[in-house]
Amino acid sequence: MPTEARVCAYSAVMMGSPILLKLFDHDETLARQVFQLIKQQENLLTVNRSPSEIMNINQAAGQHAVVVSQPVFELIQIACQVSQLPDSCFNLAIGPLVKRWKIGFQGDHVPPAAELQARLALTDPRDIELDAAARSVFLRKAGMEIDLGAIAKGYIADCVQAFLRQQQVGSALINLGGNVQTVGAPPDEPQGWAIGLKTPFAGLDALIGVINVVNKSVVTSGVYERYFKVDGHYYHHILDPKTGYPLDNELLSVTIISDRSIDGDIYTTLLYGMGVEQGMRYLAAHPDIEAIFVTRDKQVICSSQRQFCFTLLDDSYHQPETMQPTH
Ligand code: AMP
Ligand code: MG
Repeated sequence: MPTEARVCAYSAVMMGSPILLKLFDHDETLARQVFQLIKQQENLLTVNRSPSEIMNINQAAGQHAVVVSQPVFELIQIACQVSQLPDSCFNLAIGPLVKRWKIGFQGDHVPPAAELQARLALTDPRDIELDAAARSVFLRKAGMEIDLGAIAKGYIADCVQAFLRQQQVGSALINLGGNVQTVGAPPDEPQGWAIGLKTPFAGLDALIGVINVVNKSVVTSGVYERYFKVDGHYYHHILDPKTGYPLDNELLSVTIISDRSIDGDIYTTLLYGMGVEQGMRYLAAHPDIEAIFVTRDKQVICSSQRQFCFTLLDDSYHQPETMQPTH
């Protein structure tokens, strides 16, 4: 029997994104448990409504430390470490700027430069005090806000993968708004899951190519995911923590293939900020992480293809003949 006949897809809209769960053999109870797990995690991490553990921290900024659950504390710890890497474009304290731009939400517009400057002063990750013994988080300045939007989906995708493995599921896929995590491979498909790489600014189904993986996470961050346009200029949702404006370089998207989706989610932002050349150098030293860069001049650059296989479908895009990471 062909694989397609047995696949069961369950969908929902959560975290403002379409969520898709693929299982083999119908199991509504399991699907419901997965969606419940996602909802539970979202409720801990959201910055868009109270109550959530992150909102509690943000609302106490400049006043007092807030005790959080162990998983949330560990997630903040990771995000803090990544935010303090030299020249990191990832910054969990970016909240005041994200809230001001409102990109992807009603009322998005270009804020006055002076306001962005003022808010930049509230985004220093060194102003986040973590107390591991007390499991507490304190934002030193009033007005500071943690935003885990760049990392939450990856973290939750890993939680779903762990849950499915615990349930002895050998073959499944979870797609959290473009953040994909997989278990095994589809039955009878040794080449693995086929995950589409979207064509930027094109229709929903338009693909540059297909990424095949087994037991891997595939995460894409792209400038076309959430943006608005004013006077021919696109303003997208990944902000440069140094300037307060959307990151501006040669890239349209970065896709990370890795074991853990949380790494994928972190590295898409980090490498997006680095650009192709520095990104390729970085990847040479991190063989567990692989990337596909899509550039504005329509090149598709793969770091290597040890952990995945990429097939180009759109011939208006090009793959440079050899682009090896440089040391
Ligand atoms: P992603 O979809 O994983 O690329 O994450 C994008 C989201 O991360 C945005 O919608 C913001 O909530 C948040 N964000 C924007 N810029 C940054 C940044 N430089 N560092 C960390 N998070 C960011
Ligand atoms: Mg991310």
